[in-house]
Amino acid sequence: MIDPPLKRIRPEIRSADGYHLTRYDCPVKLNQNESPFDIPDDLKNEILADVRRRPWFRYPQPMEMDLVEALADFAGWRPDGLIVCNGSNTLVQLVLAVSTRPGAPVVIPSPSFSLYGLYTGFFGGRVVPVDLTEEYTFDLPGIREAVRRESANMVIFGSPNNPTGCVVSNADLKVLLEQTDALVLVDEAYAEFSDETARDLIGEYPNLIVLKTFSKALGAAGIRIGYLMAHPEIAREVLKAKVPFDINVFSHSAALHILQHDGLIRERVRTIRDERERVFAALREIDGVRPWPSHANFILFEVDNPARVFNGLIERGILIRNVTSYALLENALRVSIGRAEENTRFLNALEETLRDSCVQPE
Ligand code: PMP
Repeated sequence: MIDPPLKRIRPEIRSADGYHLTRYDCPVKLNQNESPFDIPDDLKNEILADVRRRPWFRYPQPMEMDLVEALADFAGWRPDGLIVCNGSNTLVQLVLAVSTRPGAPVVIPSPSFSLYGLYTGFFGGRVVPVDLTEEYTFDLPGIREAVRRESANMVIFGSPNNPTGCVVSNADLKVLLEQTDALVLVDEAYAEFSDETARDLIGEYPNLIVLKTFSKALGAAGIRIGYLMAHPEIAREVLKAKVPFDINVFSHSAALHILQHDGLIRERVRTIRDERERVFAALREIDGVRPWPSHANFILFEVDNPARVFNGLIERGILIRNVTSYALLENALRVSIGRAEENTRFLNALEETLRDSCVQPE
């Protein structure tokens, strides 16, 4: 009798749940923390004209050096410490792939972005969760203690953290980086919406790795570009695990052109930050809603009956994210900041939904 082929798949993979996102068609889409602003048409045309001129039958340049150099300029870090990839999530996988031995302890604040724990498990690592504080901020003493106790191999922060929006300050990071030689991965997918970035610490701490993406503030989730910044010695090792030529001719060109429009990026970030403050203030005024301060382009809020509120919003054409399955967040929902008119529709629909749930019996 031959063993069934599924037996060849590692148990860590078979027991994992994978990443799922249910698709709903709603006119107002505030569930994935994307930018609410598309790339302007004239910039899209510029990119398309450039893509048309390029030779599609050739492989791109090895390791896309021109994009690496443009990003190094844009982000203020050295090109030999920078890796571009097909989305920053791929870089989380790569860093774990090159660093995680079976059983290696990886300290991950909880709740945080689900892929950190999922991928750690894929590579046989052991997730050491450290709960956020009651205010949904990072428990730095708890994290330092877990790193020491477990001799952690890696610590992963999303800063700002998805789905709570808290950040780790550079002062706190420094204390941690000085205490440990574990790799400290800071996923800054949302950092443009905050006043914090760990970028300036990379030169000082060779165990610090910072991830960035084009998917949020840069308004280009569709092109799938992310990048990593670290000490060149670390970057060189991570680069070995990268698939060559993973960045296609379209994404490559789009990234180069988008980088030339940092004025537009900054202006849009300002608008989103202003809207975040407006939505936060409005949520605080609604009875039965408890919003948490956020440094990102989304807000976490708690209500008494999250499933009902989530569905009530969908009935009104508004899609947000139900995060009740995350640890500690059994009453929480997360809304991305959209354009002003979308945010207003969300706020009105939320008030209406809450009013309806008061009068309707369970
Ligand atoms: N990091 C965090 C914390 C995120 O929430 C997301 C989007 N859900 C990403 C990274 C996505 O990154 P990318 O699109 O670059 O793969």
